[in-house]
Amino acid sequence: MVPTVTLNNGVEMPRLGLGTAGPGDEETRRRVREALSLGYRLVDTAARYGNEVGVGQGIADSGISREDVFVGTKLRGSDQGYDSTRTALDASLNRLGLDYVDLYLIHWPLPRLDQYAESWRAMAEMLADGKIRAIGVSNFLPEHLDRLAATSSVVPAVNQIELHPRLPQREQRADDDRRGIVTQSWSPLAKAGDVINDPVLSSIGSRYGKTPVQVILRWHVQQGLVPIPKSGNADRLRQNLEVFDFELTGDDLAQIATLDSGTRVGGQDPRTHEEF
Ligand code: NAP
Repeated sequence: MVPTVTLNNGVEMPRLGLGTAGPGDEETRRRVREALSLGYRLVDTAARYGNEVGVGQGIADSGISREDVFVGTKLRGSDQGYDSTRTALDASLNRLGLDYVDLYLIHWPLPRLDQYAESWRAMAEMLADGKIRAIGVSNFLPEHLDRLAATSSVVPAVNQIELHPRLPQREQRADDDRRGIVTQSWSPLAKAGDVINDPVLSSIGSRYGKTPVQVILRWHVQQGLVPIPKSGNADRLRQNLEVFDFELTGDDLAQIATLDSGTRVGGQDPRTHEEF
């Protein structure tokens, strides 16, 4: 059983989940079904991924009760704005085949558009309507969170940001913590790039009988971060869940800190990155 973290509105969220960006509906359906059978209970998707139908089908196939799965999806850029946010959630629920989602996030702040505060106003209302159990943001910087705080009494439950040992995001994490926001880590394995072959990680892992990827995922959960690694492979899906039975030492964490290079996997800076 994956342990949970309590969000700022009392909702429980698993401390590790499945990422689904990329594959289409059929492959997503297979992955979600497989992951749920292995014990995953959090699935992250987005309207923009074009696979919410597959996520819903995978959940239905699994036979697991709806209330035992935590489903998060996201408002895409082209749907930002008060009215369009309300319509977009209904469209996502329709594609997912669900009555509610557990978490609804604004995918990117898109400051040039200047619509995120209006989108948030709609989301806060929909939270009260019961179609969403928690609301949050993704790729938000302190300046964007300040703006929400100035216009709404609802504090985001989650900020989902790029975060891995190459980009540990210490300042943003501290800012999220200060506000009572749980940080979810996207691309938690840095897309399985060079970092997973780093000897620092293999040497730490060898002491616990764990792989470098398991060391990375443990690094996330031990710091209160919620990673959502993606995999299409059953063995790797299983391996990625087996990170709740060992503990990194302070010295391990200090060694992992040396892997910080400040690099983003896709160069997507929230100040300027736009996707719709
Ligand atoms: P990731 O999870 O860091 O890495 C995925 C890659 O790692 C896949 O190529 C996978 O290959 C490989 N992998 C997984 N487990 C492995 C293991 N145990 N050993 C070796 N390789 C392994 O990257 P991501 O998909 O970019 O990020 C995860 C999720 O974050 C996404 O799917 C999405 O849900 C979310 N996300 C959100 C945003 C946002 O703006 N909010 C942006 C990007 C991503 P195999 O399939 O072959 O195992």
